[in-house]
Amino acid sequence: MAKKSFYIETYGCEMNKSDSIDISLSMESSGYSKSDRPEDADIVIINTCAVRYNAEERIQGRIGFYKSLSKKLGKDQTVVIAGCMAQEWGRKILEDYDNVSIVAGTYHYLRIPELVREYDETGRKIAAIEKQDYRFSNFKGERAESFSAWVNIIKGCSNYCSYCIVPFLRGLEKSKPHEEIISEVKELVDRGVVEITLLGQNVNVYGKDNNDITFVELLEMLNEIEGLKWIRFLTSHPKDFNPGMIERISKIEKVCKHFHLPLQSGSDKILKLMNRRYSVEKYYEIVDAIRMFNNDYSITTDIIVGFPGETEEDFLKTLEVVKRVEFDDAFMYRYSDRPYTKASKLENKVPFNVMRARLEELIEVQRKITYEKNRSEIGKTEEALVVRPSKKSEEEMLCRIKKGKMVVVPTKARPGSFIKLKITGISGNTLKGEEVTVSESLRI
Ligand code: SF4
Repeated sequence: MAKKSFYIETYGCEMNKSDSIDISLSMESSGYSKSDRPEDADIVIINTCAVRYNAEERIQGRIGFYKSLSKKLGKDQTVVIAGCMAQEWGRKILEDYDNVSIVAGTYHYLRIPELVREYDETGRKIAAIEKQDYRFSNFKGERAESFSAWVNIIKGCSNYCSYCIVPFLRGLEKSKPHEEIISEVKELVDRGVVEITLLGQNVNVYGKDNNDITFVELLEMLNEIEGLKWIRFLTSHPKDFNPGMIERISKIEKVCKHFHLPLQSGSDKILKLMNRRYSVEKYYEIVDAIRMFNNDYSITTDIIVGFPGETEEDFLKTLEVVKRVEFDDAFMYRYSDRPYTKASKLENKVPFNVMRARLEELIEVQRKITYEKNRSEIGKTEEALVVRPSKKSEEEMLCRIKKGKMVVVPTKARPGSFIKLKITGISGNTLKGEEVTVSESLRI
C-alpha cells in the first residue's frame, strides 16, 4: 500500500519552526512521506501560533482554505492542528471546524503519527492537549536541513509577563540536559552544519530548573566543538542578564555579535504592569555593558505599544529609549488581549486608533535608526556565511555577517561557505557588498 503523505505549514516563532522539524521527522520515521504541495498530501499539519489574536485569525483562514481545497480535490485530507492555538482552544477547534480531525497540543507534538494512526483506525476525532511531562525530541543530526540549524535548549517560560499567553500554553521552563545538546550539535556538525541558533523563550535561565550547567558555561562548551563556526541564541530576558555574563559571552569566539533583548516598553510604570521585572535603568545598564565589551554588537528588540494604561507620556518614554539605545532593528506590535493573561483583565484599554497611530510613529522612528545603523556598516570588512541566491540577480548571493545582518554580494561561493566581504553600500534597508577573498573552498 502506498505510503500516506503529509504536508506541514508553520506559523509563529523559531520555537515553532524547530518543533515542525521534529514533527516532520517523527512522521517520516513512522512511514509517512513528506509532500511539498498541500494538494498532494493525505494529511495536512498546521503548526499554529497564539501570541496575538491576528495570528489566530490567519489560522482560521487556513482551516477554511483546506475545507475548500478538499472539496475541490474531491478527497478527504486529514487536517491536524498543532502548536499553541491547539493547546489554547483544544476540543473547541473540533466543534467549530468540521474538517479538522486531530488537535495536538504543545505537549503532544511528537505523538502526531500515533494520533493519525488512531484516527485512521477508529474514525474518532482526537484532541490531545493534556499537560504532561514535556518530552524533548530525540532527533539530533537528522534535524540538519542545511548548514544552519535550530537547537532547542529550554522549553516553556516561568515569567508570566502579564500580556503573554506562552507560559499557559508551553508550561514552565524545562532545560534539555547539556550532554544531549552537546551530542546533538556534534551530530549536526558531522552533517555539515556550521551555524547553530540556540532557542528558548528565555535562554539566559538555562540549567536553573534542573541544576545543570549555566547558559554561559553551555556556550563555552559548544565553543569547543570542532567544525562549528558560529553560535547564535534567542531570546534573552533583560532581568536575567548582567554585565558579568556579557563580559564572559563577549570572550567566546564563536558566539555571534548579536543580542535580541526585548524591551517591550520604555516606561517603568508599564514595565511594572507588564510584570517584566526590570527598569529602564537596568535595561540601559545591560545595553551599555554590551557596548562596553564590544561596541560592534548589533542589538535588536521587541516593543509593544498600547498596553492597557499606556498614556501618551508613557509612549514618549518608549520613543526616548528607542532613540537613546539606537537598536539595529526592532519587532514592533500593537497590544493584543490574550486569554488567561492578567493584562486582559486590566481596565484603561487604549483605543485601537491610538494604538495604530503610536505604532506608526514608533515604526517611523525606528526605520530611520535602522537605516543609519546599516549605513554605519559601509566600509567595514566582515566574514560572512553565504546563505542563498539573491532574488534580484543570479550573480549575487545573500550572505549573513556575524552580527546577523544580511548583505547582497556578487560571488560564486556556494551556500554554507564563508567569504570575506566589504560592505560598499545600501539600497533601502539592504546592505550591498563586494567579495574580498574566498576563505573556504566552495562547498558542492
Ligand atoms: S518572557 Fe514573558 S513575553 Fe517572553 S515568553 Fe516568557 S512570559 Fe512570554
